[in-house]
Amino acid sequence: MIHLEEIRKSYFMGKNALEILKGVSLDIHKNEYVALMGPSGSGKSTLMNILGCLDTPTGGKYVLNGQDVSKMDDNSLAEVRNKTIGFVFQQFNLLPRLTALENVALPLVYAGISKKIRQEKALHVLDMVNLTQRSHHKPNELSGGQSQRVAIARALVNDPALILADEPTGNLDTKTSYEIMSIFGDIHSRGNTVVLVTHEEDIANHSKRIVRLRDGIIESDRPTERMSNAV
Ligand code: ADP
Ligand code: ADP
Repeated sequence: MIHLEEIRKSYFMGKNALEILKGVSLDIHKNEYVALMGPSGSGKSTLMNILGCLDTPTGGKYVLNGQDVSKMDDNSLAEVRNKTIGFVFQQFNLLPRLTALENVALPLVYAGISKKIRQEKALHVLDMVNLTQRSHHKPNELSGGQSQRVAIARALVNDPALILADEPTGNLDTKTSYEIMSIFGDIHSRGNTVVLVTHEEDIANHSKRIVRLRDGIIESDRPTERMSNAV
């Protein structure tokens, strides 16, 4: 699903280049569940932006679903993004004037899908995150956990193969964080590939594989160690 080969990313400030990713090679197969960890500044967001086709690397190769996306122009990248990837953010990023249902259905408006089908699909994914009963509420009437569930439903509504989540529990208390992680577990069980960034070990432990970045390179990459009392 994801093939990264010697990915490099530099930012240029005047004459100076600052290299943030220094040759990252990584393969993630379909239906893997990966947590990306690492200290602040290690390049996690930069790598997620590349994985999400929001940005292109300055060196190396990125093949997503068999397509080389490393040198695509912005329009082609946007197309790949809309078809293949669902995003979840720390800040939920919901539109405040729209109901939960309307927020979830929004990606389908851009895809030119009829209103009836949009409603059906949006209700279906809201049901997947157990939020059907809040579908007509606006973001300011929802708790943090409910808001994040709406955001997850929105990420799922296009049926993307890959879900990318950047610190999805960063604004949530412990109990709510675990509820959200259980939903990511469900999504993974249904066949999605999930990659999430977190700096909390407890959150990363819900995944199956932990990749650690440090100073722009992969420091370690191993299966998640389950505590002996875990199911
Ligand atoms: P992390 O997500 O692991 O905290 P980031 O990928 O956000 O790391 O950032 C890595 C480094 O890249 C940081 O030092 C940050 O200041 C720098 N950086 C990120 N984006 C830009 C940019 N657009 N221009 C210049 N430097 C940037
Ligand atoms: P799956 O990955 O199969 O969807 P989860 O990751 O949601 O399952 O984990 C199943 C249960 O095990 C959850 O209740 C989760 O909190 C718990 N769990 C997972 N990893 C650990 C761990 N390292 N320590 C303690 N509990 C864990």
